[in-house]
Amino acid sequence: MGRPRVRVYELSSQNRIMAVSDNWDPFARGNGGAAALAHAVMGRPIWDFVSGVDTRSYLNALFFAARSAGTRVAVRYRGDSAAERRLYHLLIEPQADGALRLSHLPIDIARHMVRAPTAAELASQSCCGQCLRWRKGQTWGASEAFPGLARAPVDYVVCPQCRAEAQRAIDQAMSGRHVH
Ligand SMILES: [Zn+2]
Repeated sequence: MGRPRVRVYELSSQNRIMAVSDNWDPFARGNGGAAALAHAVMGRPIWDFVSGVDTRSYLNALFFAARSAGTRVAVRYRGDSAAERRLYHLLIEPQADGALRLSHLPIDIARHMVRAPTAAELASQSCCGQCLRWRKGQTWGASEAFPGLARAPVDYVVCPQCRAEAQRAIDQAMSGRHVH
């Protein structure tokens, strides 16, 4: 598998997937399987592909800010595979008629060694879907447990650090909304 390139897709004003970039299918085959191929995702709500109410409300807040401020909003997130640690920028840009263009730009790729989360980890810990750190008690930390290899549902949430980064991006977008 080659280096991941920039993936782009567009959402309608109702957050349905309306267009995906040419490199969508090769990436989907490597990462999400047949269910994630372009013909299978087209027209469907983005929320069908987002795990956890926490992550949905996080993304929804970013979408709202980009649309209402009429400006781009960017956050970082981890989109790892089992073989690579991948840090991305998610760039959200408003388009005509309430549509949004979402670009996933790889900014740092490194090989890593991971293992499947244990049953005990899945039962007692939550994983931040944005930075892939796990919550152990009150602390958040890196782990070799890779949620993509889990054999049971992962409790995906958004950690305070990622929430704060998103809030800064939102505040920045909203503070510029009347400047034209
Ligand atoms: Zn996080």
